[in-house]
Amino acid sequence: MAKAAASGSGSDSSIVDQLRALGVKKGVLVQMAERGQLLALRCEMPQCHQHKGRGAFDPVTTPRTKWAPSPDHYPILKWAGGQLLPENVRLSHVWCNNRDYGWRMKIRTMLAKGKSLAEIAEALNSKGVPPAHGTNRWTAAMVRKAYVS
Ligand SMILES: [Zn+2]
Repeated sequence: MAKAAASGSGSDSSIVDQLRALGVKKGVLVQMAERGQLLALRCEMPQCHQHKGRGAFDPVTTPRTKWAPSPDHYPILKWAGGQLLPENVRLSHVWCNNRDYGWRMKIRTMLAKGKSLAEIAEALNSKGVPPAHGTNRWTAAMVRKAYVS
């Protein structure tokens, strides 16, 4: 980031400006930036897949590209009734958000069926679900970490 938040309170206009430059002119992310609720324009997902770094975003187009900014429902996920409000949003890349959601749903379903973490790891590997960036196979520990992050 070019500069840190100038003061300890209030809106961070540099983040608002960066969002505007990407074509994000309204919505919950702008609201959060205006309230000083975002530290930086960075992907906040546990796993970020953008090789250029967590701060590299594409401008918003229709449809959004995989590296466009996206609000992720967190900590209360969308399927659990979470809403896109400042208290329930983390900033993500579209792709990182989709990947996280895909893992989470698969792991959740298998946990509910009584599968062990090792069995889930095996199933994800055999289905060809890409694991975390920088690794090539799911392990029991990675399954747990992905689910609880
Ligand atoms: Zn990301």
